[in-house]
Amino acid sequence: MRILVSNDDGYFAPGIAALAEALAAVGEVTVVAPERDRSGASNSLTLDRPLSLRRAANGFHFVNGTPTDCVHLAVTGMLDHLPDMVVSGVNHGANMGDDTIYSGTVAAATEGFLLGVPSIAVSLVSKAATDFSVAARVATDLAERFLRMPFRQPVLLNVNVPDRPYEELAGVRVTRLGKRHKAEPVIRGVTPRNETVYWVGAAGGAADAGEGTDFHAVANGYVSVTPLQIDLTHTGQIAAVSEWVGR
Ligand code: MN
Repeated sequence: MRILVSNDDGYFAPGIAALAEALAAVGEVTVVAPERDRSGASNSLTLDRPLSLRRAANGFHFVNGTPTDCVHLAVTGMLDHLPDMVVSGVNHGANMGDDTIYSGTVAAATEGFLLGVPSIAVSLVSKAATDFSVAARVATDLAERFLRMPFRQPVLLNVNVPDRPYEELAGVRVTRLGKRHKAEPVIRGVTPRNETVYWVGAAGGAADAGEGTDFHAVANGYVSVTPLQIDLTHTGQIAAVSEWVGR
């Protein structure tokens, strides 16, 4: 099995090192990741300049672009063969509910999915975490399962792993995305040159964190696995908007 690994935290991040190391037990791993932290990059492609692909001493490749650029470049230009799987992460921090819209971790997996490759995004639910090996092991379990019993449909999975020892995980729950409250306001600051600047504030707290959501599963010690789709059409509103437009 050939596995393409990417992330949004950058090729130097401990999360991607742990992931690549664990996945090497089940497949031939190629790492192509951004040269700097591109968390929050979403599905952006770099179209206003060319991209460079460089190789670090440890064999990881890095690109002066976004997570989406990395997977796009690797799959459509760099690799000789279509990978059997794209695995993105392990992200430093959760990607649940509305986070998935902004996440570069999810975006890298989404790009694999859009290019026809089964893809998994993996995030560790802790900003304080330093050990990514448990989440990497969970990702490897899923990749191994995929190898043993391929899933017969195009698949894009968003996986969040609680920060606790492997033996203390409650299990795996297949979930839907929860919802967050509105984001915190921007934080205003003043530079030494007396310019006002703004930092984007924190994401909102969980609003829909009920049974069945990723938030709920993770809060109860389970790994959440949410199957994602790309079609944003609000099918349930087509009739009501048709009526409104037709007046
Ligand atoms: Mn990140």
